[in-house]
Parts: sequence; structure tokens; C-alpha cells
Amino acid sequence: MSPEQLSSTVQTAKHICSSAGVRFTEKRQKVLEVLIASPIPLSAYELVDQYQVHYKEEIRAMSVYRILDFLQEEQLVHKLNFNNKFISCSHIQCCHDHGMSQFMICTECGQVEEVAMPKELLHSLTQRVSESGYSMVSPHLELACICHSCEPQI
Ligand SMILES: [Zn+2]
Ligand SMILES: [Zn+2]
Ligand SMILES: [Zn+2]
Repeated sequence: MSPEQLSSTVQTAKHICSSAGVRFTEKRQKVLEVLIASPIPLSAYELVDQYQVHYKEEIRAMSVYRILDFLQEEQLVHKLNFNNKFISCSHIQCCHDHGMSQFMICTECGQVEEVAMPKELLHSLTQRVSESGYSMVSPHLELACICHSCEPQI
């Protein structure tokens, strides 16, 4: 990602927060920047390390966790249960409603693709769940995959 793309994504995030009436503090912005700049998802502790590398400034893991909670609520960041890591939303700059996402995670290189979950899929998942006598808490969907670059060459 180019520095221009990074800064325009951060500007959009700032705008999203101000229209939601929440504060986009400098620390929140910096944590988001580290995640946007990272090509792969990061754990909270990896974030602490990278934050220090980027800004030559310490941040405590507790603060990172609190900031991540905030960023997740605003849907600027997502948590992957697959590896307990965090990724910046790839749709920050989009105008469409965020909706539910489906994550393709490469088990080799860790790259993640986030796509909007089609309405039909969400509908049939919800239906399956209720047919089984359960009610859906979150349709967050993660799929373990192999990306194109990691696919074995034949
Ligand atoms: Zn997203
Ligand atoms: Zn989008
Ligand atoms: Zn891969």
C-alpha cells in the first residue's frame, strides 16, 4: 500500500469515527495505521512490537487490547479466531454498508481476503442454525485456504 493510500484510508476512518460521534485519538489512529500497513494479520503482541518499530514509542499490551476493542466496534478492524490475530478492514474506503464478512485465510503465508458475505449465504446459514434449534450469535465466517501464490506449481 502506498503512503497516499494509507493516509486516505486513515482519513476515511477518522471521518467514520466523527460521524459515529466517537473519538479517533492519536493512539487509535497509530494502531490502525500499523494494521493497515501490515500485509498479514497481527497478534496484539506483534502489534505492540511493530508500534514500537514504527513510532519509536512504547505502548502497553493493555492499551492495544482496548484500542482493538474500539476499532472492532467501529468495524475498522476485524479479529480472526483462526489464529487470534487482527486485520484492518479492507472495506474502509467503500461506500456500501459493511454487512457481514467472509474471510479467506491462506494457511501458508497468512494473507487474508475479506469479501462481503452474499445475502443468500447469510440467509441459508441463519436458517440452518435455527433448524438445528440454535440461534445465531455471529455469522462471522473464516475459511482456511491456500492463496494463488502459495498454490503448489505443477
Ligand atoms: Zn470489514
Ligand atoms: Zn467494499
Ligand atoms: Zn498464501
